[in-house]
Amino acid sequence: MNIAIDGPAGAGKSTIAKKTAEALGSIYVDTGAMYRAMAMHMINEKVDISDQAAVERACVSADITIRHIDGAQHVFLNGGDVTPGLRAEEVGNAASTVSKYGAVRERLVELQRALAAEEDVVMDGRDIGTVVLPDADLKIFLTARPYVRALRRAKELCGGEVPPEEMVSGIEEEIRKRDEQDMTREISPLVRADDAVPVDSSDLSIEEVTEKILSLAAERRGD
Ligand code: C5P
Repeated sequence: MNIAIDGPAGAGKSTIAKKTAEALGSIYVDTGAMYRAMAMHMINEKVDISDQAAVERACVSADITIRHIDGAQHVFLNGGDVTPGLRAEEVGNAASTVSKYGAVRERLVELQRALAAEEDVVMDGRDIGTVVLPDADLKIFLTARPYVRALRRAKELCGGEVPPEEMVSGIEEEIRKRDEQDMTREISPLVRADDAVPVDSSDLSIEEVTEKILSLAAERRGD
C-alpha cells in the first residue's frame, strides 16, 4: 500500500508521515529532503541557483541516494550523509528554487518512483499524489493556517520554548513566499490531486491527524 501526503511547508507532513509509516510498518520517504540535498549540492559547488542552465548542468553530478538506518531516512550526497544539515531554512528556500527546474525534478522523481516500486511507502512532498504516485492507494492533502505553521516551525527552532513574535512573523513571511513559489511554478506545482482527502491540521494534534489517516488507510484496504 502506497500513501501520498502532499501539502505546503510546515503543515506537519513529515511528522505525520513518519508516524503513519511506523504504525503501518511501511517505509517513510521524505522527498523534500532530496530537493534539499540537491540544493546543498548547488551551494557546495557554488552554482548560481537562479541560473537554470547552470543548475541543470550541475545536477548531473549530484549522486543522491536514500538509505533507511534504524527506520530513519538518511540522504547521501556524493557518498556523504548530509541529513543533519538539510533542515536549515536557507536550504529549504534554495530547494524551492532548484525544484522549479525540469532536469532536477526528472532525476528525483525517478528515484522516488523506484523506492515506491520496491516497498510499501508513505511518501510526503508537493507532487506525490499528482505526479510521482498518481495511483497511490490513499492521497492526503495536509494543510494548516500559515500562522499556525510558522508558530510550529519557530517552536521547533526554539527547542519547544515559546518563540518571540517577530520570529514567528518572519518565518510566516518566508513560508508564504515559499508556498507561492511552489504553487505557481510551471512544472508539478503544489496542487491538491482531485482524489486527495483534504485534512486541515491547524486545530488537531499530531495523534488526531495520524489516527484520521490510519482509519482512511484501513478503509481503503477494506479492513
Ligand atoms: O518539504 P520540504 O520543506 O522539505 O521541501 C523543500 C522544498 O522542496 C519545497 O519547498 C519544494 O519546493 C520542494 N519539493 C518539491 N517537490 C516535492 C518535495 C519538495 O518541489 N515532492
